[in-house]
Amino acid sequence: MYKTMVLMANFLMIGYANAHHTAEVDTSSIHHMIHWMLTTLFGIITAIILVIYRRQRSKLKVLTELALTDDLTKLNNRRSLFARANEEMSIAKRKGQHLTVAVCDIDHFKSVNDTYGHDVGDDVLRHVADIFRENVRAGDFVGRLGGEEFAILLPDTTGEQANVLLERLLISMRESVGCNNITVTISAGVSSNRPDEDFISMLKRADNALYRAKDAGRDRIVDCSCDTEINCCTHVGPTTEKLKKEIVV
Ligand code: GH3
Ligand code: MG
Ligand code: MG
Repeated sequence: MYKTMVLMANFLMIGYANAHHTAEVDTSSIHHMIHWMLTTLFGIITAIILVIYRRQRSKLKVLTELALTDDLTKLNNRRSLFARANEEMSIAKRKGQHLTVAVCDIDHFKSVNDTYGHDVGDDVLRHVADIFRENVRAGDFVGRLGGEEFAILLPDTTGEQANVLLERLLISMRESVGCNNITVTISAGVSSNRPDEDFISMLKRADNALYRAKDAGRDRIVDCSCDTEINCCTHVGPTTEKLKKEIVV
């Protein structure tokens, strides 16, 4: 450390001499030289601190992204989704806006794994994630809840508006051919925020709607974003060409 400091002082003195075109340092200009050395040293230390700070900041950014991203699909992970949902719940409450959530699950995904193997199953999950990314709007937030289950948060969106996006998503999914010529379908359950309800409860309602979609035959949407508890859900199921809307009773 001491040696480095002596070396650095020598280096600075040589630098000063060069800068002032003289080999000898005049004693009358000693104050000027010290001032010059300290200023240069300060500049070097500031530059080093800045470089270290930037490196640490970019490392922290990478670590934060890793903690919030799903490894396989590169979508937001469950933790990230819940954090965002709680933020959006507060915003929606403050502004009196709608907030809708859709829980989507790949149909018969186990048979993809059983038929083609787990690695191909992983490729299908990545492909499905791409279709989600392509179909959501800029302000929407899509994440993988786990396994073959995904969720889309739709701020400032009613259930009815969410259905338009979901119908498009289900059609894209049905028409898109992934690796090994595999095509999958998804089922979706929808719920919207209610006064004095937390996100867990809202997600549970979307999950219940998803089970209704599975029970009704899969590849369809059950929208339970209505305000009342009793059978007010709408059911958007597939026909040969497009989705058909009907009321669930
Ligand atoms: P359903 O239509 O009722 O949803 O049927 P399903 O077969 O999709 O549902 P089930 O819960 O029976 O099976 C889900 C399968 O998803 C089983 C599990 O091995 C598979 N899975 C979960 N996570 C992953 C993953 O990260 N990679 C792969 N390849 N498979 C996964
Ligand atoms: Mg499934
Ligand atoms: Mg599932």
